[in-house]
Amino acid sequence: MSEELLINVSPMECRVAVLDNGVLGEIYIERHHKLGLVGNIYLGTVVRVLPGMQAAFVDIGQSRTAFLHVNDMQREPKPTPKSKNQSFVETEVIADSSATPADSLGMTPPIVSAQTTEIVPVSNKTLIQHRLHEGQRILVQVTKDQLGSKGARLTTNISLPSRYLVYLPSSDHVGISQRIDSEDERTRLKTELTSLMQTVSLKGGLIARTAAERVPLNKLEEDIYYLVQLWRTICARRQEINHHQSSELIYQELSLPLRSIRDLVHADTEKVIIDNAQVYEQVRYFAKEFVPFIYDRIVHYTAEPALFDVHRVEDDLRDALKRRVDLKSGGYLIIDQTEAMTTIDVNTGSFVGGRSLEDTVYKTNLEATHAIARQLRLRNLGGIIILDFIDMLEQEHKDDVLSSLQQQLTEDYAKTNITQVSELGLVEMTRKRTRESLGQQLCEPCSTCQGRGFVKTAETVCFEIFREMMRCARTYNSPKKFTVVAHAAVIDLLLTSEADTVADLEYLLGRVITFEVENLYTQEQYDIVLD
Ligand SMILES: [Zn+2]
Repeated sequence: MSEELLINVSPMECRVAVLDNGVLGEIYIERHHKLGLVGNIYLGTVVRVLPGMQAAFVDIGQSRTAFLHVNDMQREPKPTPKSKNQSFVETEVIADSSATPADSLGMTPPIVSAQTTEIVPVSNKTLIQHRLHEGQRILVQVTKDQLGSKGARLTTNISLPSRYLVYLPSSDHVGISQRIDSEDERTRLKTELTSLMQTVSLKGGLIARTAAERVPLNKLEEDIYYLVQLWRTICARRQEINHHQSSELIYQELSLPLRSIRDLVHADTEKVIIDNAQVYEQVRYFAKEFVPFIYDRIVHYTAEPALFDVHRVEDDLRDALKRRVDLKSGGYLIIDQTEAMTTIDVNTGSFVGGRSLEDTVYKTNLEATHAIARQLRLRNLGGIIILDFIDMLEQEHKDDVLSSLQQQLTEDYAKTNITQVSELGLVEMTRKRTRESLGQQLCEPCSTCQGRGFVKTAETVCFEIFREMMRCARTYNSPKKFTVVAHAAVIDLLLTSEADTVADLEYLLGRVITFEVENLYTQEQYDIVLD
């Protein structure tokens, strides 16, 4: 599969598009005014310890104090572990270290929480009030951005990603990304990394990221040297500022263009095209240092039209926010995202053509499996996903569609899992949530319908207005006149098909009713003004 990376930089935001064979596969957007803090390392100050919650508020120099839970704290020096516990811990670490590129590109750096590496029995877990006190200086890393009134979430289990590895200073294990399947390869990585760490006398743990698969020893070595250097710089900086009063940033996670060079580029990447001179220079410099093989494939795009217009990215992005996705065969998907889950409904087009119905349905479902897999990635939908394929009669067809879906999902960088096919033929699946979906990132609930997707009909609103006028007439005796201020569609109805009701009401209430169109109102908004 040939890949291209397009990097579009504007004063407001940076966007990275991954094209698979010329088609938009993934999109990453970072808006400059809300740059995330995830991955940043701070020397923070403990502001308050909350024994009841086993947590602490830590100042990291942001508008809100950040939150540190005891489970996210580096464990105390452990008692000699039993050997069977040891192996349990190892598998857990590996299971938790699905350090895929997209993970660290998105909102969740591959951090191994203290919970999974915990070796001491739960009852021995040290209480937070015995470990932290107000005013204490503490090295922390952000794992979740602050959101609304909630402060950022912190960990003391620092993790530093490089291209192929993640360094965990406070762990002591070598783990391998679960997406590397081959047992031989896992063993090789484990052996080589363990001995490399001894060579450079690096303390702590390492995770081999998915990108490390079949990467030669000298490349891994380069990565380790980079991480050793980075960790030294961080420790030195910590020493240097330890006596300062304020909380300070010690290490900042790379910007999106550099992260995408670190995490998204691989041997199949044919080109990296960047439309901004300054970022082009930064990326070239970074690539020369850390990802030299891509250096000559980095291109500065200066022509017209805009980079994302040339490759249809803008069009695809616009379509990726729509409910409906058209299929070539004439069928279509309807994608609905709610808080609890995403549902994808497959439909045939109206034209069935010359073939039999079962055949058309089968072909549409097969085509849908490709479109679904692509949309899941592009929209970055996560959590529970319910797929409603069109009913098929033949078991062989059902099996084919399911296996085609499974095949398509293997291309996904995020972990997916088909959990079951229900009696009604619904396919239930999950997809690992790595960051906000495209819709969550770019959209907000519609203010006209409050996110329901529907508004009350003009007729419903008319009847509401009638009831409201009757209530007003009962409550206030004085008004001689009612003025209805509403949306044009509602006023139209009041003056035409509802004119008789209005006349009846004027007679019943003994008052004159006049009308006024307010262009700023939505169809559901109205006012009744009393004179
Ligand atoms: Zn709406």
